[in-house]
Amino acid sequence: MKIISAHEGVIPISSSMGNAFIDFSTMDCSILALVSDVMVDGEPVVGYGFNSNGRYSAGEILRRRVLPRLMGAPANSLLDDDGLLSPSTAWDVMMRNEKPGGHGERSVAVGVVDMALHDLAAKIAGVPLYRWISDKYGDGTFDDSVFVYAAGGYYAPNKTYRDLQDEMKGFLDAGYNVVKMKIGGADLAEDLRRIEAVLEVLDGDGSRLAVDANGRFDLDRALEYGRALEPYGLFWYEEVGDPLDYRLNATLSEHYRGPIATGENLFSLQDARNLIRYGGMRPDRDYIQVDPALSYGLVEYRRIQHMLAQHGWSSRRCIPHGGHQFSLHIAAALKLGGNESYPDEFQPTGGFADDAVVVNSRVKLDDRPGIGFEGKANFHKVLRELHA
Ligand SMILES: [Mg+2]
Repeated sequence: MKIISAHEGVIPISSSMGNAFIDFSTMDCSILALVSDVMVDGEPVVGYGFNSNGRYSAGEILRRRVLPRLMGAPANSLLDDDGLLSPSTAWDVMMRNEKPGGHGERSVAVGVVDMALHDLAAKIAGVPLYRWISDKYGDGTFDDSVFVYAAGGYYAPNKTYRDLQDEMKGFLDAGYNVVKMKIGGADLAEDLRRIEAVLEVLDGDGSRLAVDANGRFDLDRALEYGRALEPYGLFWYEEVGDPLDYRLNATLSEHYRGPIATGENLFSLQDARNLIRYGGMRPDRDYIQVDPALSYGLVEYRRIQHMLAQHGWSSRRCIPHGGHQFSLHIAAALKLGGNESYPDEFQPTGGFADDAVVVNSRVKLDDRPGIGFEGKANFHKVLRELHA
């Protein structure tokens, strides 16, 4: 088995939304196709990857470092002992001559290729990725549906409370029970009015509402918001301070009794381990949101799961960021707590298969081989054009 060619591109996933830190109007995304010499029905089997939603493309690192190493390696150096494509062996090839530390855009680039390699390996095996993962690394069992929550509630020019409520009602009508909204892009009084408006739609049930500060707050503001939010009994209070400010998070966890969620901007085993060591995260209630696509892919994510287990964490406390199909398979196979979802946002990359249905805040996996981008018509068309 050989990878014949790699085709990398950049697409916009523009949106007029904003959170407490950035607007998304110039956001883009790396996409990748790895064409193999394996033929099925007269067509080469192709693996696809992209860099999740919400971090910029990493084309320079892909073109200059990661892909040349992958494509320059002897074909058998990417295979396991059975002669099958091995994403973990390929991972070592991609990371050759890279220093430790400084995880960031590099982890995004490697994550794109790791996703495409997993898509390719599962397609060659003729099985959906969740089955490939559970057969290879687990006990062969998997969850046949995954909890998903609807992430929205962004700031937008001239967005009214009624608009916000209508957006949330739309999520409930689409089958979600738990919704998320942004905070920290306004002052506390205004954010509390927005929260109260959303709670009206949720029958006043704070346990169905998560809020996300996108790393905006200093410690004073984190605690001030925490005091105001605690009586609502929210689903979680997300990414309150800078993602690398573990002491802030630890201090918050001493004062805020409800669940805290963070990790979408931690991109390595080492960063995730520091969060667990120093961030005050509580395994009985808090959530880890590391996004496998942004953090060196599934090969690294499995290392993170191993580390979490060593520290007494259940995989059920993990709900990855990103709202993409790759994490959906990983959540089912590794029995995570769920996955994020951005209904109708970040197109064409965001969301699941076109025929995926959310019922009672759960989405079922389908039987398409690999990740199943082929079941997401608009995105598949873009990916297909990479190597047409
Ligand atoms: Mg977030």
